[in-house]
Amino acid sequence: MDFFSKMKDAEYNQFIEDIISKKPLTDDMIREMLSVSDRAGLKRMFDAAVQVKEHYFGKSVYLYSFVYFSTYCKNQCAFCYYNAKNKIDRYRITPEELRVLCGELKDEGVHMIDLTMGEDPHFHNTPENLLEFVRIAKEVTGLPVMVSPGVVDNDFIKELRKEGADFFALYQETYQKELYAKLRAGQSFEGRIDARNNAKAAGICIEDGILTGFSKMKLSNGELIQPSVSDDIESAIVSIRGMQKADPDQVRVMTFEPQPGTPLAETAQASDLMELKVISVLRFVFPDRLIPASLDVAGIPGMTDRLNAGANAVTSIISAGSELEGVVNFDRDVSLNERERDAKSVIKKLKEMGLERGSQESFESYLNRNKS
Ligand code: SF4
Repeated sequence: MDFFSKMKDAEYNQFIEDIISKKPLTDDMIREMLSVSDRAGLKRMFDAAVQVKEHYFGKSVYLYSFVYFSTYCKNQCAFCYYNAKNKIDRYRITPEELRVLCGELKDEGVHMIDLTMGEDPHFHNTPENLLEFVRIAKEVTGLPVMVSPGVVDNDFIKELRKEGADFFALYQETYQKELYAKLRAGQSFEGRIDARNNAKAAGICIEDGILTGFSKMKLSNGELIQPSVSDDIESAIVSIRGMQKADPDQVRVMTFEPQPGTPLAETAQASDLMELKVISVLRFVFPDRLIPASLDVAGIPGMTDRLNAGANAVTSIISAGSELEGVVNFDRDVSLNERERDAKSVIKKLKEMGLERGSQESFESYLNRNKS
């Protein structure tokens, strides 16, 4: 499809102006954009997304340190390596270990600490255990803290707010209810939305996210998840509309990567082109919001592609010496000191790209503005 390549220069420039002035896109426009496949059209689409990003954020990129502090989980998401049924080695770090880790992270140049866990009953059933982790991360680093605790109730969320949590990340993964039921088996669709809305109402910034790349993939019971690429496109449209409803402060998309030991283990990895296109569309739909480029799918080269498609934050940064996990962990087999997922490697690459680490002040003003 030639949505971008058929535009004359004046139309293309007008399109960018319209996006900057927050003119909404129709579903048909999104459908056409996600169907773009010619090289010139893709380049124009990614360039437009970068221009919109630069209008709002300049060359600044924000960095988040990923601390996956417990890999225990009571749930059975079909796409996730850490689902309760997978027979893997798991860990849960102690408050003392977190304190040491945060001491190492505080001068690395990241803007925020992302405390992530599976739905580990140790923290889920005893909020104080998680609140203590938020307290430690804030005290030791002095940086904003994002928590990704899974679905928690409103009282828990209010406590997180009191403890000073700045961001609440909870990914719906899809707003198509049927697909959700296959991916997040046994978990409430509405309960997840409610938790995010409660966090927003409590004055915490919220992040939502979706997965892409399920077309033609089969569950281990033989069930086809999405028969064709156009299902992936329709799914992305429904999900983008779903995400819009809560006015999220950060939105992400990630390509599904088959994980060993899960019901989707035997499927082939999709190309990440759809993810790049969705990043650009997210930039058009949420022009002034944070959009992450995760290091977890394809490392630094993947980060570069995502920043060039309109992203403006880098997530899943893990210190060179850390033994903690990522979520997707494309580099699960790579030795720790060769992972190149540390802040120094990211900042070096940003400079080569003509980008820069944004100031802490500008990041925190974004948070404060959005929280209020
Ligand atoms: S995605 Fe999260 S909730 Fe689902 S199994 Fe994995 S860790 Fe648990």
